Amino acid sequence: MSTTVKIKLPQPDDLDAVFYETVAKTGKLCIQHCKDCGTWTHPARYYCPECASENFAFEPVSGDATAHSFTISHFTVEPAWKDLVPYVTIVAELKEGPRVIARTKMKGDEITIDMPIKLDVEVIAPEFSYVWAGKAEG
Ligand SMILES: [Zn+2]
Repeated sequence: MSTTVKIKLPQPDDLDAVFYETVAKTGKLCIQHCKDCGTWTHPARYYCPECASENFAFEPVSGDATAHSFTISHFTVEPAWKDLVPYVTIVAELKEGPRVIARTKMKGDEITIDMPIKLDVEVIAPEFSYVWAGKAEG
């Protein structure tokens, strides 16, 4: 029998807070995009890693990605997650370039490195959203 335990939400700050606020406001995965050279960056930085510009915005991305890596967690110390183990976490590489950590409902034996996946977001609070990875259509 499981009990309901409230998940403790992360409290992002600085540019991480801006990232999550933009995702919550738009309902879309929005990544930092340099307005001077077009580089996509995640996690967000105050200066573009390519051209050092401070001129950026958080803009929606395609969600098209590949599975760069993944791990299967069989243990958690977080009480709210105990009913979820084992669960899979994916390092997804977006078509735009940056890598993003994502949850998935896929099992470990359903995932192969470099397989196409699709990312989407689930807004659970104004200051935090989950990024979900699923199988790419087609
Ligand atoms: Zn740039």
